[in-house]
Amino acid sequence: MNIEVLINEKELDKRIEELALQIAKDYEGEEVIFCSVLKGAIFFTVDLMKHYKGDCEINFVRVSSYQGENSTGTITLKIPLKKEDIENKNIILVEDIVDTGRTFKYLVEYVKEFNPKSVKTCVLLDKKARRVVEFEPDYTAFPIDDLFVVGYGLDYDEKLRNLPFVGYVKK
Ligand code: 5GP
Repeated sequence: MNIEVLINEKELDKRIEELALQIAKDYEGEEVIFCSVLKGAIFFTVDLMKHYKGDCEINFVRVSSYQGENSTGTITLKIPLKKEDIENKNIILVEDIVDTGRTFKYLVEYVKEFNPKSVKTCVLLDKKARRVVEFEPDYTAFPIDDLFVVGYGLDYDEKLRNLPFVGYVKK
């Protein structure tokens, strides 16, 4: 498979640090729960938290909607959240990429059922051109073109998550 670098390690680190500073400023004096959407967002969540200077915790949720390069369109909740982890807390859902917008839309509604103090969304990559439902993340690290991306947590049939950069599959 021919993979080209789209965003290198240095660019990722610089932008993620900026985002962490912005989030810390917005939540000054408040505690936040970074809720990482497994598996893809794990690298991003960890690096975001390492740069985050405020009071924070980590949690995980897992959904699946993709196989290979094609979305199945249906979202399955594989690892759920608990009410006590959300109720009266500031939740930031952290995702690797927004594509159609279905996953984030589903997750925001899901989290709201447990009465959080607030819920916001933070994404590493935004493929705006592919949106099928109306959705705008609160925090975006990089808007990108309509490319199938891999690396830095993003997979191709579970492989390639370990690449330290975001790359795209060259056809
Ligand atoms: P959405 O529900 O917004 O269509 O899709 C979100 C999920 O689709 C992401 O969490 C990710 O797992 C997967 N996805 C969308 N685009 C890509 C891509 O370019 N590369 C990879 N590896 N996964 C993608």
